[in-house]
Amino acid sequence: MKEIILAKNGEIALKGLNRRKFEEVLMRNIKWRLREFGPVKITCMQSTIYIAPEDCDFYDFDGAIAALRNVFGIASISRAAVLEKNMDDILSHVCDYVENDLFDARSFKVEAKRSDKSFPLKSPEIAAEVGGKILSRFHRLKVDVHNPDVTVMVEIRDKGAYIHAGSIPGPGGMPVSSSGEAMILISGGIDSPVAAYMMAKRGLALSAIHFQSPPYTSERALEKVVSLCEELTPYTGRIPFYCVPFTELQEALKEHCPEELFTVMMRRLMMKIATRIAEQKDIKALVTGESLAQVASQTLDALHCTDNATSLVVLRPLIGMDKGEIIKISREIGTFDTSILPYEDCCTVFTPKHPCTKPKLGVLEKAEQRFDYEPLIEKAIAGTEFRMITG
Ligand code: ATP
Ligand code: MG
Repeated sequence: MKEIILAKNGEIALKGLNRRKFEEVLMRNIKWRLREFGPVKITCMQSTIYIAPEDCDFYDFDGAIAALRNVFGIASISRAAVLEKNMDDILSHVCDYVENDLFDARSFKVEAKRSDKSFPLKSPEIAAEVGGKILSRFHRLKVDVHNPDVTVMVEIRDKGAYIHAGSIPGPGGMPVSSSGEAMILISGGIDSPVAAYMMAKRGLALSAIHFQSPPYTSERALEKVVSLCEELTPYTGRIPFYCVPFTELQEALKEHCPEELFTVMMRRLMMKIATRIAEQKDIKALVTGESLAQVASQTLDALHCTDNATSLVVLRPLIGMDKGEIIKISREIGTFDTSILPYEDCCTVFTPKHPCTKPKLGVLEKAEQRFDYEPLIEKAIAGTEFRMITG
């Protein structure tokens, strides 16, 4: 029997004239995500994406469905039998097809949807006939229309009839890249990978930028950040990754700036470099894992000073979340175990004992005038290494 995967669109279905564009992005993302499972034909009709494997008998449906559960833009996923659009075909196959799903069930209901109005039976009549057939085969089952253990769906659509025993939820959100592109400042910590995940969920494609300070930070610290990016690719798609050598700038800062301002001045330098690299790629927003009041560099005054170092939009999806909530997401998306590996980040190098929690922009700008960091910024950008992370 031929089978198919139906992926229903979430928010996209509410879009007006642009809907087709969003659907095309979603179909492209699905194709990329399923590339390892073999050839499929992907089409979209009536807010549903049809994923039809060329070779149904050998297709890894479970693997493909697990992958689709991470593709933003999908509201629900069902594996369905594809049947002829007539009651004979439906009634002769329905019991065999849903038998496994009904194995533990005590009650069920049948729901029919008929988007092809030329089909001779109306939805309640289809449901009644199919329900009768199931009852006559599985005597222990009862119909419960309010709270059934299993709902058997019969969908009569333009191209065929589809039967399935319910759907599993997709991740929701918007298709990655349908909202444009941003650059995530990624450290090896818990927060920034979660921030990347959350902005990808709102439809942003992501590039990543990481600042490393060898020999204060090790090669393994860098590999940890690369691993985090790899772990994000099932959600984000491939990630262009920029690694900026930051040692000289940090050393110059330490030498020339007031110790208590070190962290916020370092964050301003990160913003300046990220902005220049982002602008070269026509990227309009930066993303950080900052959360209000988490540390001294994330007070309102500090964030004001950081924002002032860039003309780009700064997105901070974790701003109102506490650490427990962030950790919960980090575990769910699978980055937590890597994030807690104990390698130094450049942020922990030269950390002041008593960082200023209320930095003033004017004071920072004056301190910045004490040394000519422009050539060092140029040098850091020139020494930036690029790699494409495909997962
Ligand atoms: P995280 O868990 O993401 O490391 P954090 O609570 O440790 O966050 P900070 O170290 O103050 O916070 O960093 C705040 C944000 O600055 C990070 O979420 C990240 O976006 C950015 N950041 C910090 N260090 C780096 C780095 N080495 N390279 C790129 N971005 C960084
Ligand atoms: Mg950090």
